Amino acid sequence: MPRPALIGIPHDSGSSFLRGAAGAPPLIRQALFSAPANQWAERLVRTAAEDVLDDQGDLTLPDGPDAAPIIERSISSIAAEKRRFIALGGDHFVTYPILRGLRPHYPSLTVLQIDAHPDLYDEFEGNRFSHACPFARIMEEGLADRLVQVGIRAATAHQRDQAKRFEVVQIDMRAWADGARPSLAGPVYVSIDLDGIDPAFAPGVAHREPGGLTVREVLTVLDTLGGELVGADIVELNPAQDLGGLTASVAAKLVKELTAHFIVETD
Ligand code: MN
Ligand code: MN
Repeated sequence: MPRPALIGIPHDSGSSFLRGAAGAPPLIRQALFSAPANQWAERLVRTAAEDVLDDQGDLTLPDGPDAAPIIERSISSIAAEKRRFIALGGDHFVTYPILRGLRPHYPSLTVLQIDAHPDLYDEFEGNRFSHACPFARIMEEGLADRLVQVGIRAATAHQRDQAKRFEVVQIDMRAWADGARPSLAGPVYVSIDLDGIDPAFAPGVAHREPGGLTVREVLTVLDTLGGELVGADIVELNPAQDLGGLTASVAAKLVKELTAHFIVETD
């Protein structure tokens, strides 16, 4: 099995409120390979090391939706080798071209989205390629057989209707508090919007929404997924909003633990 790939996607023209997420990948790498942290994941496998994780650097992208075909092709070439990968955003728009690149390689695919927001708007402020819309595009194009959302706490009536239309399984924070948990099967792609985590743990996002998941709860979701993890993204880190690199260290932790899943599950 080839090494899992790490790839930066510095794109943030989908951001509706505050740009800056394009600057995230180098900061996540810095936290990942930093001296204070060791290389080991909680499953006792080394992950934060270049002989384990193939760091492919950042894509060179034009500003705007023209970035999409480049993102799609890059992911497709990784997935063609059946390689696992972690993509570092960038804003949440990037998940749409990522799944366009990934989907042809997996006839069956479940997507787990961790997010405060459903990102199911048909369009947002006239933009169909906003970071508020990627999961509408994904479901319209059949890029996932099933979309499961966890952490939702900032939906709207329109997005509720969209969720019904696309038969999205939504575990919002009220259902989560009542004990609902995702149960998945088959190949699974995980998309982690850092604003799904409570801003107490991950303040470095454009749209802070209190009342969210703890970092430990997200790790537990990953540990108890069911299914086989085939790829992941970590998006929406906004360096200008971060406090002391806290959110970058959360993102780096997620890279380590996701990589451990790839290694242990494909052993
Ligand atoms: Mn969000
Ligand atoms: Mn999102």
